[in-house]
Amino acid sequence: MERIIAIANQKGGVGKTTTAINLSSCLAELNKKVLVIDADPQGNTTSGLGYEKDNLEYTLYELILGECSVYDCTLENDFVDNLDIWPSNINLSGAEIELLNIEDREYILKNAVEEIKELYDYVIIDCPPSLNMLTVNAMTTADSVLVPIQCEYYALEGLSQLIHTVNLVKERLNPKLEIEGVVFTMYDARTNLSLQVVENVKNNLDQKIYKTIIPRNVRLAEAPSYGVPVNIYDPKSTGAESYRMLAEEVIKKGAE
Ligand code: ATP
Ligand code: MG
Repeated sequence: MERIIAIANQKGGVGKTTTAINLSSCLAELNKKVLVIDADPQGNTTSGLGYEKDNLEYTLYELILGECSVYDCTLENDFVDNLDIWPSNINLSGAEIELLNIEDREYILKNAVEEIKELYDYVIIDCPPSLNMLTVNAMTTADSVLVPIQCEYYALEGLSQLIHTVNLVKERLNPKLEIEGVVFTMYDARTNLSLQVVENVKNNLDQKIYKTIIPRNVRLAEAPSYGVPVNIYDPKSTGAESYRMLAEEVIKKGAE
């Protein structure tokens, strides 16, 4: 096991799921054994990797409630070797309330991951767009939090709250938790705005920033409708190339 990475930003639509799918797939392409956990009731990572999310026998929801084993819940990916998933669908939205009655509710996901972590090099967790109990579970499980930031005007909004939550989890639940770094997404080289956002975040945010910047690329937006990651859908696209670079940077960071 090298690292467990939670992909989090409570802002919606910033590229969390796109990053979870394609970073996982590119790590797998580089011969890393990867488990991606869909911790979002929207189930976008699940459908984006080719699963019919409403026709699943077992999901993260049953696993959290203790109604199935980690092995029941694990699905191999049909298109990418070395890639497994714990899928989710809308049922997971019920977990928030049911977790309230469970002892050690912040540690449910961590305890499940403990059972299988020696089977994988990386575990990547896609978080929902909120700082709820599922996100807290993801942060309690993770070694680090990777924060996608969309290159748009309100990019920094809410980031201090996110960092505060990471610090709270670190203090109370998971002392080893770190901020893995910030990744800029949907960068549009044709606009000054993207450039300004990157500069502004660099000047105002005291966090590690990934050198790899993910461009706005239509292939990244199209791939999920075919149920495959971008490196399968269009291996030579700029979207695929950029997530490959990110995967290499993630691996290198672990080696430092
Ligand atoms: P949510 O908060 O709802 O979970 P999210 O943070 O997971 O959203 P995504 O679902 O990854 O965000 O991306 C939002 C939308 O933007 C999607 O339609 C996705 O296909 C598109 N998108 C993400 N990244 C890119 C990119 N680099 N280029 C083009 N489109 C992108
Ligand atoms: Mg998402």
